[in-house]
Parts: sequence; C-alpha cells; structure tokens
Amino acid sequence: MGSDIQDLLRKLPGVDRVLLSVQRLAQDDWPLDLITNEIHLQIAELRSRLLKKEITVVPSIDILTQAVLSELHQFQSSSLKPVINATGILLHTNLGRAPLAKEALEQIQRVASGYSNLEINLSNGRRGSRHSHVEDLLCRLSGAESAMVVNNNAGAVLLALTALAKGKEAIVSRGELVEIGGSFRIPEVMEAGGVVLREVGSSNRTHLRDYQRAINDQSALLLKVHTSNYKIVGFTSSIEASELVSLAREAGLPLVEDLGSGLLRRLPGSSIPEEPTISEAIANGVDLLTCSGDKLLGGPQAGLVFGRKDLIEKLRSHPLARALRIDKLSLAALEATLRLYLTGKENHVPLMAYFAVSQQELKERSHALMRQLDLPGLKVEISVSAAMVGGGAMPDAELPGPVIALQPETLTLDQLSAALRRNEPALVARIHEDRLLLNLRTVDPSDDQLIVEIFKTLLQPEL
Ligand SMILES: *Cc1c(COP(=O)(O)O)cnc(C)c1O
Repeated sequence: MGSDIQDLLRKLPGVDRVLLSVQRLAQDDWPLDLITNEIHLQIAELRSRLLKKEITVVPSIDILTQAVLSELHQFQSSSLKPVINATGILLHTNLGRAPLAKEALEQIQRVASGYSNLEINLSNGRRGSRHSHVEDLLCRLSGAESAMVVNNNAGAVLLALTALAKGKEAIVSRGELVEIGGSFRIPEVMEAGGVVLREVGSSNRTHLRDYQRAINDQSALLLKVHTSNYKIVGFTSSIEASELVSLAREAGLPLVEDLGSGLLRRLPGSSIPEEPTISEAIANGVDLLTCSGDKLLGGPQAGLVFGRKDLIEKLRSHPLARALRIDKLSLAALEATLRLYLTGKENHVPLMAYFAVSQQELKERSHALMRQLDLPGLKVEISVSAAMVGGGAMPDAELPGPVIALQPETLTLDQLSAALRRNEPALVARIHEDRLLLNLRTVDPSDDQLIVEIFKTLLQPEL
C-alpha cells in the first residue's frame, strides 16, 4: 500500500514542467513568482489529497495547468463587487449602507484622479484646512455655528468625548448605552477615550432629577445618545435633549448629542417616519451634535460634528483628530452630496429617491417584473411586505409595499438565492416563509430588466 502511494507521489509533475505548460497557454503576462507560488500550492494540495486517499490518480499536466490558470484568473476579478439590493432594506450596513449620488461619484473622479486643493488655500497659496470644503455647507444646512468632519460617527463620538471629558465624567442615561453593529458600544468608546461613565436612571426610565443628582465637580459633559437601532417600549421615560439643555446650562456643562442617523431633510410625501432632523436637533440647543454621513443623509462614510465654535475648535486641535481624519475621496463625495441638499436637489440622492418611491410606482414595476418572471420552473406572485430602514436607523420604520414572491420548482430556495448571490452582479433578496421576496424599493429602476435577465439565464434549461 505504502509503496503504491510512493509511486503515485513520484508521478506528480515537477514545478518546472507545469510552469512551461502554463507559460505556453497564459494569455496574460503574469509575474513569475505569482505563477510558481500557485503551482507549488496546487502540487502540495494534490500531494495531501493523495496521502489522504481522497484521490487515487495523478491528474494530467493539462488538467493541472488549467487549474493553475483558473486560480490566476481569480486574481483579476475584484473581491468588492456591485450588488443589486432587492431586500428592501434601505440602509444595509453589510451592503455598504447608502448608495452615492451620481454627482458625488463625479466629484470623486474629478478630485481624486489628479491633485487637488485639499489643504491649500488657492486664493493666497497658504496652507488650508480640509474641513473648509464642507464647514460652510454643514453650517448652512444645520443652523450650527461651526462644524467639522471625521472618518465616521464612531470616531466623532470618540473624539468629542476624549477632547471634552478625558479623565472626567460623562453623564449618560442607562437606557442609552447602545451597541451599534456589534462593535460600537458607547461604554467601550468612553473607556477608550479615558472618560469615566456616570450612568443615571434605570434601563427603562430616566428622569431629569437623575441627571441633576449625578452632577458633581468631576462632571465634564452630559451625553444624549439617540437610540436609533432599538426601542425600549412599555413603561419607559427618557429625557429629550431639549429638556437637558437648561440643566446643562445651569451646571455650565456642554450637552453632547450622538444623533446616529443624521437626517438632513424630510422629503415631501416621502415615507421617512418621524425622526429629528439635524437642524431640529441643533435648534433644541445642544452644544455639540454628531451623526453619520452614510445613514439617512445618503452620503459617504463620514462622521459629522456640528456645534459651538469653541468646542469644535477643541476637537479640531486634539491629536486624535489627525488619526480620525476623513480621506479626500469621502470628503469629495460628502461635499457633492451636501451641495445637492443645499440647492434643493436632494431627490438626486439615491436614498432619498428610494424613500420617495410611491406605492403606485412600486406596484407597476412589480407587476411588470412579475409578468416577465413567469418562467418555467418558477412560481411568481405579488405579495406585500415591509421595507425596513436597516443600518441601525429607525427600528420601527417599516415601509409596507408590494414585493414579488418567488417559489422555484426545480431548485430549493437556498440553491436559488446562492446562485443569485454568485451571479455578477450579485442579486441579494430576502427569504420569508418559503418564498424569495424581491422588493424593488431599494432597486434602481434601470436594474429592473437586469433582474429579469439574471433569472432567465439562471433558469434556462441546460443545453
Ligand atoms: C450608527 C451609529 C453610530 C456609529 O456610526 P458610524 O458612522 O457607523 O461609525 C454611533 N452612534 C449611533 C447612535 C448610531 O446610530
């Protein structure tokens, strides 16, 4: 037995022979070490499978060559790929949150394909600040005195707490010690920033007097966190930021609010539910407000900070600001997105457009698609489902609407959704009660036909 395996192992081709064969067939000019590494891996894999008796013959050199070439081709295809989001979840963190507006993409292209005035003042040639490109826009849109941007909202909260409360106490309600996305927990962010957490109230009820009692000479600020990704219902009471304002003023402490999702404008007739806008939150009188750029605002990943000039100045000059700074691609996209809001073109922001899609329009598109998806091997009907906002925003925000419900007859649901995910572009949909649901609210109308083509190709009988 042992000697049989030795014979087989001896039949494994040498790297040089495979290399010659690969080089003869390769269409591309691959770097030599990339090819030889791949050949070594393939041969090692064969050796191990022979030893484990998973295979009993040594594949021909042609088969080995093809295997190496196919692996090499994988290096040319991107790991990050576009996905058609038919889940109806408007802000899906795993699907990259907000899609960007065309204007934002063009601005990235313009600014990043060459040099830019990122940190130079073109009118006097002196050093400038990257914040200058958006500060005025952010102030106009929010009514805030001053503003800045960092890498993301988690960074904005960390910076605000560190710069204003390091070594001292931040007072926050127990009901607001939120965790977002499994990794951002307010208590842990505070710890990382060297801030002592002073919890007040209970998980479900916090009163103004709880805050009052907690204030002492170690207090540095009051923190209000918007519990945007969960809701405590039932016997609850919490204090709104507007109620905390006078308490903070009396105590001479800044009131910092983490708004989370960052809604800039309510579109008329859109289905965005009640959620304070950024300017409403500022108008309440908070001293500092942070939110995300890629949640309800519909822009790139960013952390926006609005508020009092002296506090923003403290944040900007803190050493952490450099570590958390926004990159020029995101800044370019953010600027373009904010200009759309300022100039009344917020319906160009895909997320805002998706919120605004009418039931009638969804119904018409869904019916049109249903007729075309009436394919052999597929049962199709129209059903009703809720579109969830997702992305840690508005837990109870369900936008009900028509969905296309599919039941494959020759494949299982798991096989069908796996095949859709493997397609390029991938199509991601939701499985609910033995059906695959396609919700067009989160699909760009120009992709509707593409969806039909994907199903046609997938379900066509093998020729
Ligand atoms: C989403 C969220 C964050 C984290 O924001 P990122 O931009 O993802 O870093 C922080 N706080 C609240 C309340 C949030 O909803």
